[in-house]
Amino acid sequence: ERYDKGLKKSRQGFGAKINALLANFRHVDEDFFEDLEETLIESDVGFETAVRISNELQEEVKLRNAKSKADVSDAIVEKLVDLYEVEGQDEDNSLHFAENGPSVFLFVGVNGVGKTTTIGKLAHKYEQEGQKVLLAACDTFRAGAIEQLNEWAVRDHVDIVKKQAQSDPAAVVFDAVKKAQAEDYDILLVDTAGRLQNKVNLMNELAKIKRVIQRELPDSPQEVLLALDATTGQNALTQAKQFKDVTEVTGIVLTKLDGTARGGIVLAIRNELHLPVKLVGLGEQMDDLREFDAEKFVYGLFK
Ligand code: GDP
Repeated sequence: ERYDKGLKKSRQGFGAKINALLANFRHVDEDFFEDLEETLIESDVGFETAVRISNELQEEVKLRNAKSKADVSDAIVEKLVDLYEVEGQDEDNSLHFAENGPSVFLFVGVNGVGKTTTIGKLAHKYEQEGQKVLLAACDTFRAGAIEQLNEWAVRDHVDIVKKQAQSDPAAVVFDAVKKAQAEDYDILLVDTAGRLQNKVNLMNELAKIKRVIQRELPDSPQEVLLALDATTGQNALTQAKQFKDVTEVTGIVLTKLDGTARGGIVLAIRNELHLPVKLVGLGEQMDDLREFDAEKFVYGLFK
């Protein structure tokens, strides 16, 4: 399975470190939990989340009177999966669609994190499922971005609305929404520019794009997906916090998870940002995008 392959590095890094801790396990004591915290932090789980996991695990181990290696190992895996529960329920990390008319997904994130690639992969998936897909090239800041999205449209056999570089992104999205409505598209995927250096401009630009969409489709966008690069570790968290100040985000696309040996960033996002990871990028190819599944992720790390 692709999930397994995509997690290979993290399994050999993060997963193997936890397994090594367990292999040396004699009994539960403070040293064990200290080593665990250290391993978690080294794997991009982040300090705050590592301490939380360790503390909750200590209680759990006491409660269950877990003594054997197998008991402790089970408790760790369950604790990590439990991070993805909200009040005892699995977190809702599904993508939301419009009941009528086109669903609109807005993609935000800084350059190079894998936004365009994610749109290309998702467009491919929906096209294959028989949906009518439209792309909007609203990252008009860079000519390269428009061209790159266009290449995906060609590859995916889907339509695209684009204008010249430096055009007003709101004008592009206006045309795209009109076209989506008039020609009965099922889904509109909107690429945007992500210049965090200029937060006020970015905020205004995204707000304007949203306003234009909502003028025609009051319940849209259904998703505002923030792309984060898993290989940048804690920097990804900082970026996410900055984006949350700029616009309302409904979920995370964690890209390049295949490229890191420290997959713990997934746990940090859950615990610190309180945003669901909805999609994960597990490679550069069309098929390398998956809906995030906490159990598959955690079991994929440790088996
Ligand atoms: P954008 O500037 O945010 O639109 O980023 P791009 O979509 O251009 O991606 C930047 C680079 O990351 C490209 O070389 C992509 O092929 C690569 N990339 C994107 N997603 C993934 C992924 O999930 N895994 C790997 N290994 N590479 C990825």
